[in-house]
Amino acid sequence: MPKTLFRALASLLLAAGTARALHEPIPTPTPDHHERKPDDVFRLQPLRGDVYALYGRGGNVGFFVGPDAVVVVDSEFKDIAPGIVAQIRSVSDRPIKYLVNTHHHGDHVGGNEVFRSFAVIIAQDNVRKRMLESPQVILRTYPKELEEAKKAGNAEDVKFIEDAIAWAKKVKVDEIAAPMVTFDSELRIHVGPETIEVWHTPPAHTDGDSVIYFTKANVLHMGDLFFHGLVPFVDVSSGGSVRGYATAIDKVIARVPADVIIIPGHGEVTDLKGLKEARQFIADVLDAAAAAKKAGRTKEQFLSTVDLPAYKNYDGYKDRFKATCAAAYDEVP
Ligand SMILES: [Zn+2]
Repeated sequence: MPKTLFRALASLLLAAGTARALHEPIPTPTPDHHERKPDDVFRLQPLRGDVYALYGRGGNVGFFVGPDAVVVVDSEFKDIAPGIVAQIRSVSDRPIKYLVNTHHHGDHVGGNEVFRSFAVIIAQDNVRKRMLESPQVILRTYPKELEEAKKAGNAEDVKFIEDAIAWAKKVKVDEIAAPMVTFDSELRIHVGPETIEVWHTPPAHTDGDSVIYFTKANVLHMGDLFFHGLVPFVDVSSGGSVRGYATAIDKVIARVPADVIIIPGHGEVTDLKGLKEARQFIADVLDAAAAAKKAGRTKEQFLSTVDLPAYKNYDGYKDRFKATCAAAYDEVP
């Protein structure tokens, strides 16, 4: 996929697709092609205090089973959302009353269309705003991308972009399954003995990021503020920031106990040590960019040589790494 398309797609919602969706959130409509049946997608991991992690085909899902309600974090894609519900049903038949979105990317909100008929969907103000404006963004930016994809002879991209434009032309704003309850900085959900805190963080992955903390269970869902063992994607076109990532992670670390269990947006469940490694990656990228700038090197010179061997095994080191470094270069003094 061309870089320009990657950027244009990054800010949009309702992602589809398989592997590329991990770091390239893309809009509806959801293509039918997927390698695995919905039933094969999932892996359920009980954590602590009736909180579960559910791995699937998009951003990791977390959920809490309370005495009278289930609270879910993120909804992956529309086509596998019924599978998410089935996984929750394998644990509890209590009503799924709340869905919290960590941010607006399609691999985290695509299943909202399924959940909205029975759950109250909650997110930070900017998540709703970015979801509702997505048709205009597509109509404004995609025609140019379509030309480029046609020129490059990339049939898959052409089909995808054409489908997205067709969707943007016909979709009505009230058909978009945006959160119906929004907040600016913090919100608490009280379910039985558990208090679930939703904290909006400084702009990092996007400008609508939230983390969700299950206080009694002491489990934290970080959304895409945390890519565990992967190079993070910084969605600059949606208000994201590399320096903001560092600030946001620091703020979260300061608020949680040392023995917290952490569900990352992507990658395996981990602990504070795992999160601190991701924080160190951000610090190292910012340091490398600052050193290059101080030495008078241009962005192009920096990007042509930048290398952080300690992270070579991270997924996305080949593709996302340079984009993250470029964003860092733009931000450091
Ligand atoms: Zn994301």
